[in-house]
Amino acid sequence: MVSGRDASPDLDPAPDDWSALRQQAHRMLDDILDYQQHIRSRPVWQAAPDAVRARFQEGLPHAPGDLAALHARFMDEILPYAVGNAHPGFMGWVHGGGTPVGLLAEMLAAGLNANVGGRNQIPVEVERQLARWMAELFGFPDTASGLCLTGTSAANLHAVLVARTAARGPEVRAQGLAAQVLPPLTAYASAGAHGCIARALDIAGIGSDALRRIAMDSAGRMQVDALARAIAADRAAGCQPFMIIGTAGSVDIGAIDPLAQLADLAAREQLWLHIDGAFGALARLAPRLAPQLVGIERADSLAFDFHKWLQVPYDAGFLLVRDAARQRAAFEQPATYLARAEAGLAADSPWPCDLGMELSRGFRALKVWFTLQTYGAARLGEVIDTTCRLAQHLAGRVRATPELELLAPVALNIVCFRHRAVDEATAQRLNQAIVIAVQNSGIAAPSTTLIDGRLAIRAAIVNHRTRSQDVDALVDAVLRLGTTLQ
Ligand SMILES: *Cc1c(COP(=O)(O)O)cnc(C)c1O
Repeated sequence: MVSGRDASPDLDPAPDDWSALRQQAHRMLDDILDYQQHIRSRPVWQAAPDAVRARFQEGLPHAPGDLAALHARFMDEILPYAVGNAHPGFMGWVHGGGTPVGLLAEMLAAGLNANVGGRNQIPVEVERQLARWMAELFGFPDTASGLCLTGTSAANLHAVLVARTAARGPEVRAQGLAAQVLPPLTAYASAGAHGCIARALDIAGIGSDALRRIAMDSAGRMQVDALARAIAADRAAGCQPFMIIGTAGSVDIGAIDPLAQLADLAAREQLWLHIDGAFGALARLAPRLAPQLVGIERADSLAFDFHKWLQVPYDAGFLLVRDAARQRAAFEQPATYLARAEAGLAADSPWPCDLGMELSRGFRALKVWFTLQTYGAARLGEVIDTTCRLAQHLAGRVRATPELELLAPVALNIVCFRHRAVDEATAQRLNQAIVIAVQNSGIAAPSTTLIDGRLAIRAAIVNHRTRSQDVDALVDAVLRLGTTLQ
């Protein structure tokens, strides 16, 4: 038995107990590998019974517990009741599936327990290498810098802070925006931009009202002439436009803004161009899709996630900034305990903590580094390509089925469709009921969104395990439930 009660002076097992811990460790590893290997035999998702939920009301444990018993609890009470994004039938949101390689790399990182805020250590070098790889992939210059973050929400916030400091000078960091007697800052994104962009402006103290939401064309792309007009109107009204945020892969339908035209306009207007490429940016790995992203190489900054299309386990977002000096100017900070030295542990500056708000931070880069090298960029690009082909397969089935209709064009891997009904009100109710019933069936997990006010069944195909049979199972379930629920 491995428990916290072992007669050891520290938190490691006593010398004689390491072998028991190893056996337990191997059982845990086997169980979680079994989960991935046999994921198809499980429901995509199931609601947790009240009795299971009640078990998580217990108070703080004071006495030691038994590791094997806790492992059993994990298997019985936690693992079956997760969201299910590892499952090939999960299509509800843009979530990656995870891989065995990512799991193993995460285990190594946890064991090493490196704090990658800085200092003279190779884990920092791994993250720098990752940043150089991303600069290479996205056609950024050698002056670029990059930082692992929790996700694109955090990366977009960091980008707003870098752009703010670039627009207002480093004094803004000490003075704050309110104390600067200057015109108010304004930023621009498509009406279909992710909600975290308005939140980033809110958190940065610029205010979400400073975000101008620009109209989209029928394919969900920002209208560049409307953008130019909004910038001109704000200038005329005495505002200070500072940032355009383009979207590469919109959350609702996967639309890609006209990035090259945004880059032209940003250059003309001398504005910071940031691109939210949360999942879409990595389409650059797929030769067939990469041309859709032309212009991305001209951005001042780019945010994206490894935990979505690259299948790296959560959490793993990234911010790439064209000019490292700009990124440092927004975050670098003097502190005695962060003093740098020519040699020893405090050498090898600048550090990741100079590039973002986190000081203590885990070794997120390692799982990305393992993923890119084990599978190779080409193979990962094929996975991305396949999800887009599956989306076309799904769109094809929708078009070929009279009971169904497509609600948005399919640019990448997201399909929005619905079951037809006698009128709009019935369609809303029916499609909402279908989505809940499909989720409860455990067969597939789509979500809903609104497209021009119409409730859509949304299938985002992100998981490397998803095959055409999974897409067919979704369509069949929607049709079956559509008949019974009508
Ligand atoms: C997922 C997503 C985000 C948010 O990213 P997180 O990693 O969840 O923080 C932002 N923008 C778009 C377009 C997204 O798809």
